[in-house]
This record gives sequence, structure tokens and C-alpha cells, in this order.
Amino acid sequence: MSDEIFAIEKQDSFQFECNCTVPCFNECCQDLNQFLTPYDILRLKKALGLTATNFLEQYTCRHIGPETGLPVITLKPLEPAAKVCPFVTPAGCRVYADRPGSCRMYPLARMISRSRDTGAITEHYAVIQESHCRGFHQDRRQTVTEWVRSQDLTPYNEMNDLMMGLIHLKNTLNPVASLGLADAQLFHMALYDLDRFRTYIIEHGILAEAAASGYSEELLKADDSALLRFGFEWIRRVLFPK
Ligand code: SF4
Ligand code: SF4
Repeated sequence: MSDEIFAIEKQDSFQFECNCTVPCFNECCQDLNQFLTPYDILRLKKALGLTATNFLEQYTCRHIGPETGLPVITLKPLEPAAKVCPFVTPAGCRVYADRPGSCRMYPLARMISRSRDTGAITEHYAVIQESHCRGFHQDRRQTVTEWVRSQDLTPYNEMNDLMMGLIHLKNTLNPVASLGLADAQLFHMALYDLDRFRTYIIEHGILAEAAASGYSEELLKADDSALLRFGFEWIRRVLFPK
């Protein structure tokens, strides 16, 4: 079997299962090229009991996306030459319940398109069939919709769509340039370094303003997902005003 990518509809089924009995168990966690989304970081830092700042320092590298000019975060391998994921153990993934969205989505890829008139999102899926992956030889079949549900992907997809909206806006306003240093730092803090962002909005009166315009102050103080949603909205307003 050679590597193959083919489009699939949400109601269509594909043959795949990954578990600890497959002969290639853990193989794909040894060759890491893992981008982390803001929501991935939110889940991982919580699972590890770290602040976002400490998680970013210990486990990630920061880059500027060559196509977007925006800050992007990658997972730092255990040993740079070996590309092994820092979370893989002989028994499997030690952050399984909070693993990144791309680990959950595999062997599917999800793309979205947005209606210019209504802003409504349409999802498109593809199967990435890699020859080394024995998961395609297992008996289990499921539809794309069943896979998305079984992998608890809905909150990941919702947050990633907010990120895609920001990237789209930035590319529309300024397709080539990177953000300036100060703007890049704001972007990084509001979306990736949530605990520092929380302190920042309290100290700079932004939380009080948000509360005055209808946000729940208690929720923004206590709930990382609510704070991240606010971060997307705030970055849109501050860095990419219409
Ligand atoms: S986070 Fe878990 S599932 Fe994802 S590459 Fe690392 S060990 Fe594998
Ligand atoms: S079956 Fe595929 S996804 Fe699962 S461990 Fe093997 S290579 Fe990775």
C-alpha cells in the first residue's frame, strides 16, 4: 500500500483503528512535526498542571509562520535529532485525554471554507492513508462524523475555526508582512500565554471594560476557554480593526 490522500464526506465511512495492539503502536509519536494551536496549549498546560508560561518555556518553540507572518508554536521534541514527542511513553500518550487536535484527527484532515455572504463555515475532510500505519488494516469502520465525536474534536474545531478567522483577516488586510514586535507579543500573549493574558487584562483595566460591555468578569477570571474566546475577539479588535 502506498501513501494516499482522498476526499471523504462526513457521512462516509473509512476503515481504521489505533490501539496498543497494532504493531506500529507509538511509531507516529517518534517523528514529530507538531504545530500547537491555542486550544491545544490550553488543554496541555492544564493536563500537566503548569501555567501557560511554564508550559511554553519547557515544551515548545516559537516561530513566525512563513505564510501568515503570525507567531506559531511547535512542540519541542525530547531530543532535537530524534524528533520524539515529549509525551510518548511505552504505554502510550501520557496526555491522552488532552492530546492535541491533530493527534485526535489523524488519519483525517479537516479543512474549512467560509461563505463570503453569510460567513457560514463548510467542513471538508480527507483521509491521509500512510503506508507505515497499520491502523488501516484493523477491522473497525466508522463515518467521519462518528470519528469526530469519538475523538472529542468539537471544542478543538470550534476554537481552531476562530483562529482561522483571525488568520484569514490578517491575510486579507496585510498578506505579506509579519506583525511588528509589539503586536506579535500581544498576539502571542492573548492566544498562547493565557495566564499572563489574564493578569494583563486585570492590570490594564481591560477586564473592567469587558465586564462593562457584557462579558462575565467571573468567567474570564476562572475559565480558560472563555478567556481564549475573549482573546480572539480582543486581538481582532486591537490588531486588525476594520
Ligand atoms: S501528544 Fe500524545 S498522541 Fe500526540 S504525538 Fe505526543 S505522544 Fe503521540
Ligand atoms: S496505527 Fe497509525 S496512528 Fe496508530 S500508532 Fe500506528 S502509525 Fe500511529
